Amino acid sequence: MAKGKINVSVENIFPLIKKFLYSDHEIFLRELISNATDATLKLKHLSTIGETKVDYDNPLIEVKIDKEGKKLHIIDHGVGMSKEEVEKYINQVAFSGAEEFLEKYKDSAKDSGIIGHFGLGFYSAFMVAEKVEIITKSHVEEEGAIHWVCDGSPEFTLTKSKKKDRGTEIILHIADDSTEFLEEHRISELLLKYNKFMPVPIKFGTKEINDPTFEPKTIKDKDGKETTEPHKQLTVDNIINNPNPAWTKQPADLKDEDYKSFYRELYPMQFEEPLFHIHLNVDYPFNLTGILYFPKLTTNLDVQKDRIQLYQNQVFVTDNVEGIVPEFLQMLRGVIDSPDIPLNVSRSYLQADGAVKKISSYITKKVGDKLQSLFKNDREGFEQKWNDIKIVIEYGMLSEPKFFDKAQKFALFPTVDDKYFTFEELVEKVKPAQTDKDKNIVLLYATNVDEQHGYIEEAKAKGYEVLLLDSPIISHLIQKIEGENSELSAEKQPIKFARVDSDFVDNLIKKDEEQISKLSDEEKTKLKEIVEGIVPKDKYTVQLEALDSNANPFIITIPEFIRRMKEM
Ligand code: ADP
Ligand code: MG
Repeated sequence: MAKGKINVSVENIFPLIKKFLYSDHEIFLRELISNATDATLKLKHLSTIGETKVDYDNPLIEVKIDKEGKKLHIIDHGVGMSKEEVEKYINQVAFSGAEEFLEKYKDSAKDSGIIGHFGLGFYSAFMVAEKVEIITKSHVEEEGAIHWVCDGSPEFTLTKSKKKDRGTEIILHIADDSTEFLEEHRISELLLKYNKFMPVPIKFGTKEINDPTFEPKTIKDKDGKETTEPHKQLTVDNIINNPNPAWTKQPADLKDEDYKSFYRELYPMQFEEPLFHIHLNVDYPFNLTGILYFPKLTTNLDVQKDRIQLYQNQVFVTDNVEGIVPEFLQMLRGVIDSPDIPLNVSRSYLQADGAVKKISSYITKKVGDKLQSLFKNDREGFEQKWNDIKIVIEYGMLSEPKFFDKAQKFALFPTVDDKYFTFEELVEKVKPAQTDKDKNIVLLYATNVDEQHGYIEEAKAKGYEVLLLDSPIISHLIQKIEGENSELSAEKQPIKFARVDSDFVDNLIKKDEEQISKLSDEEKTKLKEIVEGIVPKDKYTVQLEALDSNANPFIITIPEFIRRMKEM
C-alpha cells in the first residue's frame, strides 16, 4: 500500500484566491478595515488589562487615495506586527491571528468585538491590487519596524523600515482592471455600505464645517448698512462612521427619539417615521443584538430596497436575511448583529443550522411579545396602527404556529363601523345573535364596503356585527381559524366565517328566539304547514326559527336573494 501526501503549492493557490475567494471584489476594503479595527481593539484590550505600556488614546483609522500613484492606503495605529508576527500571520495563508488572540485572552476578550476569524481576509487585497505593501511597527517598543512587499506571486520581500509610530499601513497598488477603487465616490460608497457602524472611527479626507465657537458679529459698512459677518469655516476630519450605533447600547439608555433618529441614520432616504421598534438583546445560547422597526406601509414602500441589514461585530455583511429572519418578518426594517451566524455557507445550509433556527424563533418570539405588550399597554394606539401592521401579523399567523397562538390574543378584527375586537371578544359579543341551527357561531364579514353596502346595512339592521376583512391573505387566515375552531364541545361552539352577502345570513337564529319558543314544536309544525299552504313552496322558503328583531313569528324568503317578505 502506498501512502502519500497531496502537495498543495502556494503557487497554485494565489490565482485561486484572486478569482474565487470572494465573489464580490469590493469587500477587500471591508476586510482590510476589519483588520485595522481588530488591531486597534486588540491594543485597547491589552491596555485595559495592563499588558502594554501604550496609553490608549482612541486612535483613528485612515483611508487615503493616491490617484496619481494608483495607490490606496489603509492606516491604523493599533498593535502593529513584529517581524515574527508578519511571518506567522501574513506569510501563512489561512492562519488567523484574530482567532489566536481570542483563544489566548479567552474570557477577558470575549466582548472585545474582535472581527477576524478565518485568516483569509488579508489576501482579498490581491483581488484588486497587483502589489501589496505592509509597513508595520509593533506596540512592543523594542521591535523594529518591518516592510513587507508582495506582488501576488508567492515570493515576498521582508526588510527593515524607518516607520517611527506604532501601527500598520497597508498600501495597495491597484491593478489596471480595478481602477474604480481609486475614485473617491466609489470608496466613499463602500465605506458607507460596509463600515458605517464600525467601532473605531474611520477618517476619509476632510470636510468644512461652520466653526461652532464662532459668533458672527453685526458690522456696519461705510454707508451705515448692517450686515452679519460671514461664518467662519473649520476644516475637520471627515469621519464616515458612527462607532456607537444605537443597537450596541442598552435599551434603558435610549429614548424614543434616539430610536427614531437611528432609523433615519439607517435609511436616510426614508421620510416616513417607523410605527414602533423592538430592541433585541441576547447573549445565551447565542449572541445577538439589534433593533427591528415596523415601517408604515405607504404606497411607495420598497421592500426590495430598505431591508433589514445583517452585521457581524458592527461590520455590514448583507441585507439578505433569508433563512435567518422568518419570512413574515422580512417586511420589517432595522439591523441584526450576530457573530454566531455562519455566513460563509449556502442559504439552504443556513436554514438547517441549529443556531440559526434558534435565532429565527427568538426573533419571532420577541416580535410577538412586543406586539402583545403594545396591545396591552396602549390598545387605542394599537388599533390605530392595525392597518399598517395587520399584513405582517396575519402572514405570521398563517406561517408560524407559535406566532399564531400568541397573536390570537392581540390580532384585531375591525368592523365596518371601526370597532376593533379581539377574536375572543368578538365571539363573546356575537354568540347570542349569530348562532345558526347547527350551533355554529357565524362571523359575518364584508370585503368591500361599497360593493356590499346593501347587505351590510341589512345585517346591521338586524343587530349583527359585520367585520371588514380586506387584506389579500384573509381567506387563508379564515380557513385556518375555522380549522382551529371546528370542534363542537361542551364549552365550545364551532366557528364559521360567512360573507355578508351569502345566504348563510338567513340561517342565523336571533337573540329573541325565546319569543317564538312559546310555541310548542307541534304548534310550530302546524303553523308551518298553514303558511306553506298559502305561499308556493317551490318559490319560497318558510323559516320559523329565524326571527328578525321585530319578533315576527316567521319569515318567508326567496332563497337566492336575501329579500324578506313579512307576512301576518
Ligand atoms: P483574520 O482577520 O481572519 O485573522 P486576516 O487574513 O484578515 O485573517 O489577517 C491575518 C492576520 O494578520 C490577522 O489575524 C492579524 O494577526 C494580522 N494582521 C492583518 N492586518 C493587520 C493590521 N492592520 N495590524 C495588525 N495585524 C494585522
Ligand atoms: Mg481579517
